[in-house]
Amino acid sequence: MTDASSREADAAWFDGLVNRRRAVRLRLSGALEILENGVVVDQWPLASIRRADGLATELRLASSSAPELARLVVTDGGFRSALIAACPALYAEETGVHTHWRIVGWSLAAAASILAVTIFGVPLIADRLAPMIPVSFEKRVGDMVNGQIGAIFDTKTCSGEEGLKAFAKMMTAIESAGLAGMPIEARVIRSGVRNAVALPGGRVYLFRGLLDEAETPDEIAGVLAHELGHVKHRDGMRRLVQAGGASFLVGLLFGDVTGSSAVIVATQQLLNSSYSREAESGADGVAIETMNSIGRSAVPAGELMLRVTGDQKDGGASILASHPLTGDRLERFRREERPAVGKPILDFGEWRALKEICVPG
Ligand SMILES: [Zn+2]
Repeated sequence: MTDASSREADAAWFDGLVNRRRAVRLRLSGALEILENGVVVDQWPLASIRRADGLATELRLASSSAPELARLVVTDGGFRSALIAACPALYAEETGVHTHWRIVGWSLAAAASILAVTIFGVPLIADRLAPMIPVSFEKRVGDMVNGQIGAIFDTKTCSGEEGLKAFAKMMTAIESAGLAGMPIEARVIRSGVRNAVALPGGRVYLFRGLLDEAETPDEIAGVLAHELGHVKHRDGMRRLVQAGGASFLVGLLFGDVTGSSAVIVATQQLLNSSYSREAESGADGVAIETMNSIGRSAVPAGELMLRVTGDQKDGGASILASHPLTGDRLERFRREERPAVGKPILDFGEWRALKEICVPG
């Protein structure tokens, strides 16, 4: 018999919809009940619960009946034992066999590259390694990175109803060019940081600060198209590989990098360091091609970047940190300019709704 105290414990809950840590109480009965302020807010069937990636000092849980990114983080030792006893599928997805088959799914060349990187140094081979990483695995890494971002930014998502419609319309237009190479999940983040980032696995975050700064839909659309360029070229993954170093790579090889300090360091790098000129130029190329293919111009995006870059009073993590804009980049936008013959991506009302997407109401 387990005593009553180990049937309940405090835990942290990420609901998988909003990137926020919520303090909850867990109660183990016929299901795993999640209580917030004494109220049951969700419950996970015991058979649906499996172990997700995590540190050795905590138990991270996911559930096939909850959103894919939902997590419960349990640190209470007694409760962990009770969970392990009660949840039949807890370790189903994380067996060594599964992990090793995943490695076999990689090309031998990729595995050999990882070993070579750990022996001979990272930057040498990161460039060649990133494109070999399967998209499905990159998505998994992207989930982990996303989980870390909450520690760095206020990651509340803006969700004004009309604004979301306008944002979806803009993303559909940009994605219709078909250049991203994987499905994109884009959000507007409430943070005032003037930036946009592409995470590994196809997540694109547009920060409210940049949206506030923008004067036309084409300015924002072009920046988002530029971020899609980073997704297409796997630049985020490449930078993670470079920043994460040898331990990250060994983690990759064995299919478990989550929660490792390498992911934390690499995530900070991803958000705060600059891409190389080559990576920026490559993403610009995708922005230009995308905007031209939908009959719009990429020049406004270049002008927006220059406006933000030109004004460095907020120093830190603005678009200038991860997207250094040089004069020749804007010049290239202008040189490859085509007349904007397509109809506007958003009409005036939709643009206003997008601008107000973060206004609560
Ligand atoms: Zn960029």
